[in-house]
Amino acid sequence: MSFSWTPHRFVGGALALDVANSVILRHDAAARRDRFAVVEQLQAFPEAAVRLSAERQDFPDLRAVSEARRGDFLRLREAIDDYFRGRVLGEENRLALAQLLEQIATTLRAAEDERSLDQATARSALRLICEPDPDRLKICGNCGWLFLDRSKNRSRTWCDMAVCGNRVKASRHYKRKKTETVP
Ligand SMILES: [Zn+2]
Repeated sequence: MSFSWTPHRFVGGALALDVANSVILRHDAAARRDRFAVVEQLQAFPEAAVRLSAERQDFPDLRAVSEARRGDFLRLREAIDDYFRGRVLGEENRLALAQLLEQIATTLRAAEDERSLDQATARSALRLICEPDPDRLKICGNCGWLFLDRSKNRSRTWCDMAVCGNRVKASRHYKRKKTETVP
């Protein structure tokens, strides 16, 4: 099946969250899919992020992560998801934060091209840790993606209304219809 990095895959509102969301249906072990497990998809991500990420003004030129840095980059991604997901769920814990800060430090210390995806992701995660309005950080009620709600009144429930919002609405409608027809 062909795959492409569509705008929907960059609804996180921050590069660090778009990176975390490269794992689809993380909470469902059977359906879970890691988009970065396919090297071509991982390598195509920076070019799409430059066009589609909400933070694209911070990295007009983004390079792929070198093979040597790939393992650390994926550990950074997992630490991002772990810490921010816990924070939304009210389970903030010092160990997850310490782990994330360690991964950020490891990335920043690496003598890598400053324009590489892992460097930009580390800086994005740092900004997010210091986000002045932590209530803006949310988990999509349908797909479980993390996103930063940048809307004025913080009213977003879904990562993407056009995808997850409609899917949930459609299934509610279907269920309602079903119950209505039951005698
Ligand atoms: Zn969603």
